[in-house]
Amino acid sequence: MTEIIDGKVASQDVVAEVKRLSAELAVSGGTPGLAVVIVGEDPASQVYVASKSRMASECGFHSVQYSLSSDTSENELVDLVCKLNFDPQIHGILVQLPLPSQIDTGRIIQAIAPEKDVDGFNFINVGKVGTGELGTAFIPCTPAGAMLLIERVRGKDLTGLNAVVVGRSNIVGKPMASLLLAANCTVTIAHRHTRDLATITRTADILVVAVGKPELVKGDWVKPGATVIDVGINRVPALADGTRRTTLVGDVDFGAVKRSAGAITPVPGGVGPMTIAMLMANTLVSAYRAVGMVAPR
Ligand code: NDP
Repeated sequence: MTEIIDGKVASQDVVAEVKRLSAELAVSGGTPGLAVVIVGEDPASQVYVASKSRMASECGFHSVQYSLSSDTSENELVDLVCKLNFDPQIHGILVQLPLPSQIDTGRIIQAIAPEKDVDGFNFINVGKVGTGELGTAFIPCTPAGAMLLIERVRGKDLTGLNAVVVGRSNIVGKPMASLLLAANCTVTIAHRHTRDLATITRTADILVVAVGKPELVKGDWVKPGATVIDVGINRVPALADGTRRTTLVGDVDFGAVKRSAGAITPVPGGVGPMTIAMLMANTLVSAYRAVGMVAPR
């Protein structure tokens, strides 16, 4: 029987633990603080930011949101980030991407203090994840969430398993591969130029797909019993004849792959809910570190 990995339930477990530990920390005088910054009026970004701020409040965090106009200059945004870097009530700074074109995204990400970089995009945290210094790093939220889902299915010991990560972006594919390598998997990273992708994915005990191509991975691309983590979120438009509404699909052909996989994440309801939950977990970890304590993971 194929296990459908329920990201909603897993994320609720993470959030419940964050709430509990946040309340414990508050007793000793430290309330975790998350600042979310959005520039411009992009509707999808507005939705993401609102749900992050709402979740932070639910977790008992000090939650602040800065909504800046779309003509905000790069220097104005750097000034705000620097102010937040020095604000003792703030433990996590999240600048919602994408930023308007007049702003150099790289400069903003590098301006965030590494110890408040709860997205894990600053070079210091990228370097820590790449070198296996996971105990002091902030791990990017999506691969951190995907890793938790893998561990729920396969247990914490992944030693010797073959892992294939399709996609090599800095926010998902590369850190995902680093986490699996740190867990002693044998890791292959595939991308647009990979030859005979299906032959490679068929070697995977753990297959993580983060590509952004609807249903790229077909049923016969997956080894029987494999754990399949579908990170992709693709909006497929409605058909004019009314036979299909606008739907969300992953990078994996769920219906076909679920027949052979041992476990698989659905889209929606798989990796997606984990991302916000891990942002809360990273902010909590930051608040514990700020008072010289280590948050239980
Ligand atoms: P990027 O566009 O940054 O990276 C996509 C990667 O896929 C690239 O490395 C690219 O290769 C590779 N790729 C593209 N086409 C193919 C192909 N035909 N065969 C093999 N590899 C291919 O995307 P992201 O990593 O940011 O996101 C990937 C997906 O995950 C998207 O659908 C996104 O919406 C989703 N996502 C979901 C999140 C969640 O919370 N669940 C969070 C973040 C992303 P190359 O480098 O050679 O160009």
